[in-house]
Amino acid sequence: MSKPCVLVLAGLDPSGGAGLLADAEAVRAAGATPLCVATALTVQTTRAARRFKTVDPGLVVESAQALLEEEDVRAIKIGMVGDRAVAVEIAGLLQGRKRLPLVVDPVLAASSGAKLFEGSVTSARDAYLRLAAGAVLTPNLSEAETLLGARLDDPMQAGALLGEGPGAVLLKGGHLAGDPVDFLFQPLGVEQFRARRIPASARGTGCRLASAIAAGLARGLPLREAVLAARQLVRDYLQAHLSV
Ligand code: PLP
Repeated sequence: MSKPCVLVLAGLDPSGGAGLLADAEAVRAAGATPLCVATALTVQTTRAARRFKTVDPGLVVESAQALLEEEDVRAIKIGMVGDRAVAVEIAGLLQGRKRLPLVVDPVLAASSGAKLFEGSVTSARDAYLRLAAGAVLTPNLSEAETLLGARLDDPMQAGALLGEGPGAVLLKGGHLAGDPVDFLFQPLGVEQFRARRIPASARGTGCRLASAIAAGLARGLPLREAVLAARQLVRDYLQAHLSV
């Protein structure tokens, strides 16, 4: 039997550390087949992102629509969209279609600090919240702050994002001090996932986590199991990148 497909809409990082190539690796490793549409082309090496240009929104949507029509897409992952115009077009495509599991990773900047969204904070918030309706949204703390338009003193406050339309919010705690904790907020409650920090520095962990969750959902796993499996996949990836 062929594997279920995950449609990935994200930026192309030609170095492969993050973005579409990392997404494709993670989707395959998680047992599904990636179908990849580039929303933006970035100039990027393994060290840092330099600049990017978004792809024509009409082309992005035409490409995604063709794949949705002809392939067995069971879940969608959206990463970097680059600007609001691309997000608006993608949201238009998703509206009115039969709901597929959707994972949205709000990509605003690279860990090197380079911006990966062109536009104001307000347009970034509008872009990603419009995409996140009914989705699993996977921000880190600073992305959650941007999307809420408020400083968060406590990661638990990120649960307020559920009021903005996502079906679930996975707050990634990897950037916080100490052993990392991820928070999975769902309408019925919140669950914390803890683990020992792996002293590795590797790029694209956020991309890989969201893509692996989408692959799990495409395979029919419940969200909690998809998140647990994706966390393990990222931990294995970090373990393979331990600095010796
Ligand atoms: N490039 C693209 C296309 C991305 O989608 C992302 C992150 O999601 C990055 C770069 C940033 O990756 P990192 O935070 O590992 O630098």
